[in-house]
Amino acid sequence: KSKPKIVILGAGYGGMIVAARLQKSTVVKDAEVTLVNKHNYHYQTTWLHEPAAGTMHHDQTRMKIDDVIDTKKINFIKDSVVEIKRDEKKVVLKDSVLDYDYLVLGLGSIPETFGIPGVQEHAFSIRSVNSVRLIKEHIDYQFASYNKQDEKFDETLTFVVAGAGFTGIEFVGEMTDRIPELCEEYDIPRDKVRLISVEAAPTALPGFDEELVEYAMNVLESRGVEFMINTPIKEVRENSVVLNDDSEIKTNTIVWTTGVRGNPVVDNSGFDAMRGRIKVTDDLRSPENDDIFVIGDCALIINEETERPYPPTAQIAIQQAYTTANNLKALVEGKKELETFKPDIKGTVASLGGKEAIGVVGKRKIYGNSASVVKKMIDNHYLFLLGGMPLVIKKGKLKMF
Ligand code: FAD
Repeated sequence: KSKPKIVILGAGYGGMIVAARLQKSTVVKDAEVTLVNKHNYHYQTTWLHEPAAGTMHHDQTRMKIDDVIDTKKINFIKDSVVEIKRDEKKVVLKDSVLDYDYLVLGLGSIPETFGIPGVQEHAFSIRSVNSVRLIKEHIDYQFASYNKQDEKFDETLTFVVAGAGFTGIEFVGEMTDRIPELCEEYDIPRDKVRLISVEAAPTALPGFDEELVEYAMNVLESRGVEFMINTPIKEVRENSVVLNDDSEIKTNTIVWTTGVRGNPVVDNSGFDAMRGRIKVTDDLRSPENDDIFVIGDCALIINEETERPYPPTAQIAIQQAYTTANNLKALVEGKKELETFKPDIKGTVASLGGKEAIGVVGKRKIYGNSASVVKKMIDNHYLFLLGGMPLVIKKGKLKMF
């Protein structure tokens, strides 16, 4: 009898942890496990605001997949997923087609543009190593070209970040660290540079504790950030952003961080989904297909306390990966009872650049330098889960204080 085929799509937080767990279990003997990813490396999405601003080299956020995954136990295929043909139990990749018995869908998300004109064409996004390297190079170029201009254009040194949610605030925080360095490097007075955070909602960091939001805004304002709250963006143009009241901010640089939607493969494959996210069953399967597990940003789960979806996070993706690895093992062993997923939210910490952060751990609010240390510990903890101490030493944030 041939071995069942397990195919994992996406080597992000979810997919990598499923693969790492399976590799340590008997599943790799009893089944044929394949991991598919666009690149031959895994990157840490939650760190990307740092290389985007240029405060960290992008190589620190990525690692070769075969440095962490034993490709003698798990097949790795570098290719892009195009579509899942559920009726035929096949995955169409750009260069080939794969059969599966069990599928894990962990392809992450893409920026939500809300159909606002010009975002796709003119805004940058914090999504992948390639997308953040481009932001960094673009910002450096603005500084490098400024002194060469005979007539000084405001848009060259005006940086707009759309969305003051978690990602937007973390990026703005890094920029407040980077801008003084760039000013020094390129002989530009700090007061020539504008960094503007534009948010449509009535508050920055919606969903965060009010006191912490105020703390964060004070820290960032003291470092020169201009907040425009309650300010929807109507259009993005090549050299400006148009606000709802038709006023315009001249800028060559707009970074779009207004939330995400599930990977387009979800919609392309005809799944029943909300903004590209599949509302999964208690054991993390697609309600339409009991051979497909959906984890991370492609999955939608409801917080019973608030009756609203949990925001997509790495924390949840990692926990879902543990449950999914256990459930795959159970299925391969012929068991029918699967584990139910229950998120265990340990807290949330947002960095504000430098040695500042805010967050909630358990029920406790934390801020300042101690929150920044906690943030680095969280980042290192993930590396530990994935590759133990050797990976923490190789890729971790070791300068804590
Ligand atoms: P990802 O980790 O994004 O991985 C998806 C993988 O799929 C990638 O490797 C990608 O290359 C691959 N892929 C995509 N499309 C294809 C395709 N068609 N074919 C093949 N491969 C493909 N969460 C937290 O819990 N805490 C935080 O502090 C936090 N901070 C964040 C900061 C930033 C700047 C950002 C952007 C996000 C942050 N998040 C945080 C959210 C977190 O990063 C996501 O929820 C998490 O990455 C989701 O994991 P995932 O496994 O679903 O997808």
